[in-house]
Amino acid sequence: HMHLTAPISAATSFIVFSMDPFSSNPWLDGKVTIVTGGASGIGEAAVRLFASSGATVVIADIQDALGEAVAASAGSGCTYMRCDVTDESQVEATVAAVVAAHGHLDVMLSNAGVLLPTGSVMDMDLSELDRVMAVNFRGAAACVKHAARAMVAAGESRGGAIVCTASVASLQGGFGPASYTASKHALLGLVRAAAGELGRHGVRVNCVSPSGVATPMSCTLMGVGPEELEAMTVPHNVLRGKVLRAEDVAEAALFLASDQGAFISGHNLVVDGATTAVNPDVL
Ligand code: NAD
Repeated sequence: HMHLTAPISAATSFIVFSMDPFSSNPWLDGKVTIVTGGASGIGEAAVRLFASSGATVVIADIQDALGEAVAASAGSGCTYMRCDVTDESQVEATVAAVVAAHGHLDVMLSNAGVLLPTGSVMDMDLSELDRVMAVNFRGAAACVKHAARAMVAAGESRGGAIVCTASVASLQGGFGPASYTASKHALLGLVRAAAGELGRHGVRVNCVSPSGVATPMSCTLMGVGPEELEAMTVPHNVLRGKVLRAEDVAEAALFLASDQGAFISGHNLVVDGATTAVNPDVL
């Protein structure tokens, strides 16, 4: 976006147009943010958007090389920290390190997640169910817990925003294996409970819930590349001819994370082009 400045010198007045790729809008100006799962897919898109919106972004992920590369190219002092969200002590240490480095934490985007092909409920591997829950639910719970502690400690006037990437699988069955669906339903419950508890401290807690996006997660599951996956989904979209991209999900997360969403808490912002709103039989 363009910034217009009009410096006036003694003899001339002229207009300077400058293009700054790292300041698309000021929605997160000066905010300190953590994005878990920020090395790839939706998290990566959020990292880039948050950084371009003025935030200081810390990527917390377990893919070191990818995370470092995203941090280096996102600009605005974005950094990477290794953090396995299934280990609560690592989540606690990451939040503590961010507060030590930047003074406080304004935004937690708890986005790390996994989808394992756990199969039919009748022959579900329960240890795989535990693995899915350990990342998507328990890991997110650790992020909510430690982000909330840091935000509450900073005082009600500062507050904070916690956003969790759930899924349309937080609302309905049939968007993934039962293990994944259960983990996202549980996550939505956690978010609603946390929103109720933390409101008095000025901390908002919300979900963003996308339908299918072509990311390494979904492409690996389907065994196809991103273009092929998008071509497969387009004919089924209620919004004909359109395809949901990671950047669209990041925009919704940005809104919830920013002061633009100041009175929104306990909400599940579905980003699915009406998929869960409409009876498919009438389309
Ligand atoms: P992705 O695989 O591209 O990214 C997920 C990231 O999470 C990866 O970088 C991975 O390393 C990281 N991660 C996994 N386990 C971790 C752990 N234990 N600790 C820290 N980081 C960990 O997938 P994505 O599609 O971008 O998924 C992001 C989120 O969006 C997930 O919560 C997913 O459930 C959700 N989601 C995705 C889709 C979709 O269609 N892709 C749809 C709805 C919701």
